[in-house]
Order: sequence, then C-alpha cells, then structure tokens
Amino acid sequence: MLYSSSSPVPSTAQLRQWDLDHVWHPFTPMQAYAREQAPVIASGQGFHLTDIDGRHYLDGISSLWCNVHGHRVPEIDQAIRDQLDQIAHTTLLGLSSVSSIQLARRLVDVAPAGLNRVFYSDSGSTAVEAALKIAFQYHRQHASRRSDQRKLFLTIGGGYHGDTVGGVSVGSIELFHHVYGPLLFQTLALPSPGALHLPAGMTRHDYQQFCFAEVERVLQAHGQQVAAVIMEPLVQGACGILVHPPGYLRHVRELTRHYGIPLIADEVAVGFGRTGTLFACEQEQVTPDLLCLAKGLTAGYLPLAATLATDDIYAEFLGEPGAGRTFFHGHTFTGNPLGCAAALASLELIERNRLLTTVQANSARLADRLSVLQDHPHVAEIRLKGMMVGIELVQDRDGLKPFPAERRTGHLVTLAARRQGVIIRPLGDVIVLMPALAMPEALIDQLCDVAISAINEVTAQV
Ligand SMILES: *Cc1c(COP(=O)(O)O)cnc(C)c1O
Repeated sequence: MLYSSSSPVPSTAQLRQWDLDHVWHPFTPMQAYAREQAPVIASGQGFHLTDIDGRHYLDGISSLWCNVHGHRVPEIDQAIRDQLDQIAHTTLLGLSSVSSIQLARRLVDVAPAGLNRVFYSDSGSTAVEAALKIAFQYHRQHASRRSDQRKLFLTIGGGYHGDTVGGVSVGSIELFHHVYGPLLFQTLALPSPGALHLPAGMTRHDYQQFCFAEVERVLQAHGQQVAAVIMEPLVQGACGILVHPPGYLRHVRELTRHYGIPLIADEVAVGFGRTGTLFACEQEQVTPDLLCLAKGLTAGYLPLAATLATDDIYAEFLGEPGAGRTFFHGHTFTGNPLGCAAALASLELIERNRLLTTVQANSARLADRLSVLQDHPHVAEIRLKGMMVGIELVQDRDGLKPFPAERRTGHLVTLAARRQGVIIRPLGDVIVLMPALAMPEALIDQLCDVAISAINEVTAQV
C-alpha cells in the first residue's frame, strides 16, 4: 500500500484491524488477545488514558511501572520540547552531549555515595546486560585477579532482570525463562526470603533464617567462581511483588563485601521513589558496586537507562587503547538527549513536589483501603511496599492451592477491572497495583475499590 501525506486518518475499525493484522504484542498470548477487543490508546492526561473510542481509563499500572508524575506533565513536556529545539539525538560513542552530562552529574548526586560513573543505555534489560558484562570483564582485568575465571552469577530465586539473553540467564521465572534454558549461561540461585510457599515443616521465621544463612554458605562454597551477585533490592517485582524482610539486602551487601564480590542492584522497578526512598538501597544504607536504573528514570516518558558504577570498578577499564581494557559495548541510542532532558525534569519535580512524602501517604492509603481483602477466602497474601502492591489469589487459602493456570484468574480480574474503567495487569494470579507515584488520594481509592470489586466478581464464579 502507498501512503501520501494526505492519507486520511485511519478509522477506529481500520486501526483495530491493522493491530490484529500486524502488531505482535510483548508478553501477550496473541490468539486470546485477538478475541478481547483490547483498548487502543490514543491519548492520556494526568492519571488517565483515553482510547480511540473516547473511553477513559484510570492507569493503574503507571503504563507498566514507569510513569511517575502522570501523563502530559507540563514541565516534562516542555523540557523535551526545549531539547528538541536543540537536537533530538547524537551519539555518545567518542562524543558527548549536554543533557547526558548534566543527567550523569545529577544521578551521581542523588545515588548512594560512591557510584560516580554513569553508563547509559535504553532499557532495563540493557542496563542489566551492561552490568553483567562490566562485572565479568572487571575480574579479568583486575590487577590481583588476572587469573580469575569468574563467570558464575549468583541470583535470588524468582528474580527478573529483563529479556535479553543475559537478563534471562540471571532470571528465574519458570513461565518466562524455561524455554530458553539451552541458551543461558551458568547461575546459582539463592532462595528468596520473600517466597510465599515455605518448605515443608518450616515456619516463616525458620525459613527466613535459612535464607540469611544460605547467602553465607553459598558464598563460602562458591565465592571463588562468582563474578557478581545480582538482586532486586527490597522487592522482587515481576515474580509477584515479593517483599524481602528487613536486613536481607544489608546482609547480602556485607557478605559480598567480605568475599570481595561485586553486588549488582537492579533498581529498574524499585528506583525513583517506588518504595518510599529515591532508591531502595538507601533504606538499608547500602551502596552496591553497580546500580541498574530504567523504568522511572524518565518518569515513563522515553526509553532511557543507566548503569552506575563505582570508581573501583571503572578504574579497571582504564589503560592505553592497546592494553585491551576498553568496554566494547553500547547502543546506537545510548544517552539519548531527549530522554536525558526528560529525566532531569523528572528529578527536579520529584524534589520540588516532595514526591517521596506523597509516596508515604499513598502507601498507607493503599494498605488501609486493601485491608478488607485480608480475610478474603481467595486471597493468599497482600504484599505491599511503598507503592508496589501484589495481591495473590488462590483457589484455596488454607493449602495455598492455586487456581488452575488455564483459568487465567488474574487475567479475568484485569478484564473485569477494565469494564469498570481501570487498567491493571496481573503477574499470573497476582493482581498488581502500581499507580504513578503522584496519583491523588481519590484516584488511589478508586483504583483499590475497582480492584476489590473485580476480585470479588471473578472469585465468586468459583
Ligand atoms: C522491568 C524490569 C527489567 C527490564 O526492563 P525493560 O525496560 O523492560 O527492559 C529489569 N529488571 C527489573 C527489576 C524490572 O522490573
């Protein structure tokens, strides 16, 4: 087909048809999607999305966990326009650009002390991929570790670190990852201290003690082969909002330091205020060796990511070109100036609007409003940290017996909420609420009320 600039705007029916004909949606069973008439979003304002038929929806998952201040925020829109008047994109390969420098400086200021180097990329997956390769190369170039053949990555069970092959290797969500098994490099998973299902005969307290002890046992046994430990600090997001007990992150930091192993903190989901502090690591006074940032970095406006590193890591990559110590890694759109401008504007708004205070209040509101589900016969657990909520649904609360997977209970709740004008997206049978941090209280209430009603509707049919 040929189009000229005078092509008419396609009709809504045409758009829907083209969507089904041509768009392959991520993480979406396409055969079922084709039956569901999903909204086609045309615009957004504040905390709402509007589809091509003019229906409004509350954005209950902050457009996949990344929107911070709402949609079409005047200050961020303006910062992007101003940058557009200068330049949209220029490379960081061997050159630099104004907004990427300013943002690096700002990130170093606000990040845990000691992370002085910023390596840009475009998504959470690429931020993780860069961190893994940096950790691996670091050992090979380290003066006193030259003979080290460290290539084992230590992870936390149920972790999620993105969808590139490196990110998948260090992840362990059965549904997403098992098919790629033959492609992946070697890792060792520590038991997650946030797991719902406990080993037979263990109380939660026993199990958590066991998880703490396992960190030391595994590092003692395998420390010599470990290139890095990678974890989502405080909350494991994609495996169902698993909240770690206090002290676990700090414990991992102390032991990795003791054994001389770099710690990679993947704050792609928890960063930028999501758990109540700008970075989750702050809550346990932890400075990781590498820090991965993406999702909320640009307030959910543009694809941009950053991997922050300590001077100690960075130093091992210095040397004359012939020494072969360069980090030969990067992407075309690395450090894109429009993304950097959006990120700078967002960081300013977080501070100016005292957003972290709003998060505390919203978190308390979410907890209060959702407490009616505490004794619900199909709710196994309500997990909440800051403005991350996971409500795990089960067929039978007593044995924690799950619903049959083919019932797609979580997905049915999403469809029920959508009929009531709220967009949410589950993780299996865990209902996730992840509103933009700045969402006003009245909308938080609406989000909770609709989620509760959708859960009641769907579980009543059991
Ligand atoms: C979303 C996520 C990623 C992947 O980020 P993308 O931008 O989707 O590639 C990595 N790590 C964590 C913890 C995430 O939540």
